[in-house]
Amino acid sequence: MKLPVDLVARLKGPYDARKVCVTGGAGFIGGHVIDALCGLGSTVSVIDDLSNSTLDHLGEMIELDPSRLRFIHGSILDERALDETMRGCDLVIHLAAVGSVPRSIAEPQRSMAVNAMGTVRVLEAARRAGVRRIVSASSSSVYGDTPNAPSAGDASGAGIVTPRSETQLPAPMSPYAASKLAGEAAVRSWCLCYGMQGASLRFFNVFGPRQSADSAYAAVVPAFAASLLRGQSPVIFGDGQQSRDFTPVASAVAACLLAGATTRELCGQAINIARGERTTILELAQMIALASGAPSIQPTFRDARAGDVRHSLANIAMARALLDYTPLGTMNEAIAETVAFYRHTHNSAGQHS
Ligand code: NAD
Repeated sequence: MKLPVDLVARLKGPYDARKVCVTGGAGFIGGHVIDALCGLGSTVSVIDDLSNSTLDHLGEMIELDPSRLRFIHGSILDERALDETMRGCDLVIHLAAVGSVPRSIAEPQRSMAVNAMGTVRVLEAARRAGVRRIVSASSSSVYGDTPNAPSAGDASGAGIVTPRSETQLPAPMSPYAASKLAGEAAVRSWCLCYGMQGASLRFFNVFGPRQSADSAYAAVVPAFAASLLRGQSPVIFGDGQQSRDFTPVASAVAACLLAGATTRELCGQAINIARGERTTILELAQMIALASGAPSIQPTFRDARAGDVRHSLANIAMARALLDYTPLGTMNEAIAETVAFYRHTHNSAGQHS
């Protein structure tokens, strides 16, 4: 993942020699955020319990420059580990969470403990450490289903889907969504009560290289890529006409860094981060099949899953206005880059087996 030159030039000043704490930094988005921070000259302190990640990527980076990257193996529920991680930092990028809607349905209490109470622990540690700003990862799942979903008579299944705006009332449909909404409420309350600066970024289906493809809870892009590169049919839950606002990871990274750098007041707002465009799951399967060199492999259909929303599309006007955010790259470029990563991993695994 590469950020555009003009964005790097804008961010260099705010991040050069800055001390930044990243929770969940061994994870998918965290790894890319840390690449960007190190490239901008920041010193980074990471906490992760490695419950959904490995040290493969961070380990290599620490070897390259141990003075610029510190790793604490611990949980965000552990106050002492958090205090150690945040010492001397003036910005926290809070990404640690138990992700995935289906996982939260299987383990609701764990989702709530880590995502809701964990965010409170992170906020409290930030307050103790005198951190001035927190950028916290939330999720489009807080919206639930749009009230005006497409009309049933529409042949394409597309119809008119109203983009979700931050003024819309959230309606979580899973423990994961509920836990993310609770995290947002905590960020806003801590900003109002304790004079912190902060925002929650509502990410819409982020994808890119290094996203976990292995577990039963893998997100749709890595799951499809992994199946197609093995020559297997990707599994679609439902009729495939459900749609998502897929967001290349570079856009999520840019949003985190812009929120950490802006001189505008951040008082706990929740802000949509996406492309502002919709792709159906069937279209996605076709794009990935083409990029994988397997255009003739057809998807297999299974029953729709509990907790999954039908359509998800963002209005990104607030991110543009408040953060000067613009989505980066095209869907085709980002899919090609992502599939190239999984092809490389797949080929290397084949050589070593
Ligand atoms: P990820 O699972 O790859 O990264 C999360 C990291 O948090 C992992 O490294 C995991 O080991 C760590 N973690 C989990 N519990 C922890 C704990 N108790 N203490 C310390 N570390 C812990 O997920 P990601 O895709 O990189 O997501 C990052 C953030 O963005 C999460 O908050 C997620 O909810 C949010 N988000 C992601 C997406 C997406 O599409 N990837 C969409 C919406 C929101």
